[in-house]
Amino acid sequence: MLKTPELSIFDEVNLFFDDAADRLDLNDGLREMLKRPWRELLVQVPVRMDSGQVQVFSGSRVQHNAARGPYKGGVRYHPQADIDEVRALASLMTWKTALVDIPYGGAKGGVQVDPRLLSMSELNRLTRRYTQNIEHLIGPNRDIPAPDMGTNAQTMAWMMDAYGQLHGHTPAIVTGKPVEMGGSLGRESATGRGVAYLLQEAAKDLGLNTDGAKIAVQGFGNVGSWAARLIHDNGCRIIAVSSIDGGLHNAAGLDIARLQRYQEQTGGIQGFDGGGPISNRDLLELECDVLIPAAIDNVITEDNANKIKAHVILEAANHPITPEADRILSGGGVTILPDILVNAGGVIVSYFEWTQNLQEFRWEESRVNQELKKTILKAYHEVWTRSTKQKITHRQASFEIGVQRVARAVELRGFV
Ligand code: GLU
Repeated sequence: MLKTPELSIFDEVNLFFDDAADRLDLNDGLREMLKRPWRELLVQVPVRMDSGQVQVFSGSRVQHNAARGPYKGGVRYHPQADIDEVRALASLMTWKTALVDIPYGGAKGGVQVDPRLLSMSELNRLTRRYTQNIEHLIGPNRDIPAPDMGTNAQTMAWMMDAYGQLHGHTPAIVTGKPVEMGGSLGRESATGRGVAYLLQEAAKDLGLNTDGAKIAVQGFGNVGSWAARLIHDNGCRIIAVSSIDGGLHNAAGLDIARLQRYQEQTGGIQGFDGGGPISNRDLLELECDVLIPAAIDNVITEDNANKIKAHVILEAANHPITPEADRILSGGGVTILPDILVNAGGVIVSYFEWTQNLQEFRWEESRVNQELKKTILKAYHEVWTRSTKQKITHRQASFEIGVQRVARAVELRGFV
């Protein structure tokens, strides 16, 4: 018997797209144009390692769509960041920026590398070479990179410097920079803060009492740790968190501020005395009110979807739930707020950073947070209303809004 070929992650995201395109009744030509990336670049990234040997890494930048504004999206350093994953993540950026209505398109970059295995000077050289190799595609009005998994503010400082050596001082070339180099106050915490704002707001619509609500967070990187901390400050109980090497569980609630300090001191969460060990897999299946996957893609699949006990899932990671798992969970009455809404806080504050750079003016952090809240909650209410009115899931409503806006921009530009 023929085995059904496995779907790639880009195919999976396009199932969500097709579902929205069907309901919006988009014609075949437009559909094809919106689905495929507009431009893709593959580069090799040779790096002289500290040992003296040259190692060659594979890099890419995928520019998915720029109908609504310059391409925008992070750069991921991860062994699995191949062209297909980068395509999928670039397309999610297109729908995300459209859904939260900021004037950007969608892009993503990747280098297939485990950054934990490189020294700081090796990472510096890798970042400079990658930047030089994609330099002709990016620009403050063309394509603006930002941090993603495996990259951070330091990576952006190196990218800005490498670009500046060719073009002169250009802080608006990247977002998520260190504050000392023109980064925005509040950018580092922005994605996690957006998650916390959404949970507060959704709790009202869901009739969830956040006081003491049990939350499990998979991932304790930038997004997961900020989300856990801010949600904890709002009165919820964070009963479990995890990192790549495993997690911590405490039914009475973890002391997140102390855990963050422990992570800063030791570089990880292992060995923390405020909770017992739990595997990443078991964390997902915990009895809790809200589950927040904030790590990598495809962690909830048809294999474990039936074992999830949370009533609400907030996708802080990009594409943590496969379409099949999404169908199982939604069919079982689980409310899922999708990635393109939930983790949009990062790119929203990237937009604020870019505007501050272009105007050479700095906002106070309180203004950044206030505007972030306004922007993400506006999108949330649009999603909630559409989902209720049309009796569709929040993911379907989110894709519909995003796809509709991009389709309209393509029409108005008169491309075809
Ligand atoms: N990498 C983040 C994301 O997936 C942020 C992108 C940006 O700020 O451009 O949304």
